[in-house]
Amino acid sequence: MGTIIVFTEHTQNDFKRGTYELLTAAKKSEHAIKVIAVGPGADSLAPKLGAWGVSEAIVCTDDNLKNYNPELYTNLIGGVLEAEKPQFVLASSSMLARDLFPRVAQKIKAGIASDCTELSFSGGNALVRRPMYAGKCTAQVEFSNCETKIILARPNQLPVIAAESNAGTGVNIKSITLPPMDLKTRIKEVVAGASEKLDLTEANIIVAGGRGMKGPEHFKLLEELASTLGATVGASRAVVDAGWVSHSMQVGQTGKTVAPTLYIACAISGAIQHLAGMSGSKVIVAINTDADAPIFRKATYGIVGDAFEVLPALTAEFKALIQ
Ligand SMILES: Cc1cc2nc3c(=O)[nH]c(=O)nc-3n(C[C@H](O)[C@H](O)[C@H](O)COP(=O)(O)OP(=O)(O)OC[C@H]3O[C@@H](n4cnc5c(N)ncnc54)[C@H](O)[C@@H]3O)c2cc1C
Repeated sequence: MGTIIVFTEHTQNDFKRGTYELLTAAKKSEHAIKVIAVGPGADSLAPKLGAWGVSEAIVCTDDNLKNYNPELYTNLIGGVLEAEKPQFVLASSSMLARDLFPRVAQKIKAGIASDCTELSFSGGNALVRRPMYAGKCTAQVEFSNCETKIILARPNQLPVIAAESNAGTGVNIKSITLPPMDLKTRIKEVVAGASEKLDLTEANIIVAGGRGMKGPEHFKLLEELASTLGATVGASRAVVDAGWVSHSMQVGQTGKTVAPTLYIACAISGAIQHLAGMSGSKVIVAINTDADAPIFRKATYGIVGDAFEVLPALTAEFKALIQ
């Protein structure tokens, strides 16, 4: 039996869903589970992970960790892993982890498998698969010649099985301090974007728009439906490339992978690269004028119609239902 270390990510109030997915996968193994939780607030959240089978939380709450600095994070996390020598390290394929863990892998000479969508453990081995060519096929990844194996799993792809109890006992909290570092760069200021909506990867309902919306000014139709449903607005790459909305809203192979309960795709054709990011959604509703659009092959419900007529009608219906 070895050790799995899960790199956690959290918001102010809770760990992100991706962290619970990793803990669920780790819990099915025979290995001991530890976590690394960094940043302000990590210490108050860590005790709840006892219910997830976590024996130890290595916590660093230094204010300098509030904003991601690759150099600082690599030194800290690399140092912890060098000392702990776990068999496996699990992290979500978030923007932060995709930047951080290749650096860490290089520093500690670990093997790394990124962007995995299937993960299980068998003895000392991990069974890992990752999609290739926008999901046209999957590759099985095997580790060799490395003591520590780092696995990054796409968020919203693995199941979450609820914790056994909410008691939150039994986690040994090991507080660590930042080692002195001669950093070459420092983050001086982060200016937050205007959106207060939930990030796409965390959203339960997404209303996404494509090129068929014909211009950024028409995205207000999507925003009206989204605010009625408590949803987050997403977009296809065509729309992002046209400069209508920011890249943070892009869903797909080169954008975010999402798996909401409800995904409403408006005037999106359903190119394979878009499907690669949203086909894990539970219910997909497609609105498109073209009855042959590929999105209808993935959709649970399809509306063949003009988004400029369907969206206001849907918004009005939902508003009436809610009142
Ligand atoms: C390497 C690579 C990576 C990529 N990554 C991504 C990615 O991450 N995400 C992504 O989305 N794409 C990605 N793409 C681009 C992808 O191939 C498509 O070009 C893109 O998804 C098309 O966007 P769209 O569906 O909005 O536009 P279009 O394909 O132009 O589709 C517009 C749709 O709107 C419909 N329509 C038009 N008017 C209306 C109306 N009034 N009401 C209703 N429907 C209407 C049309 O029938 C059509 O189906 C990638 C491509 C490459 C090569």
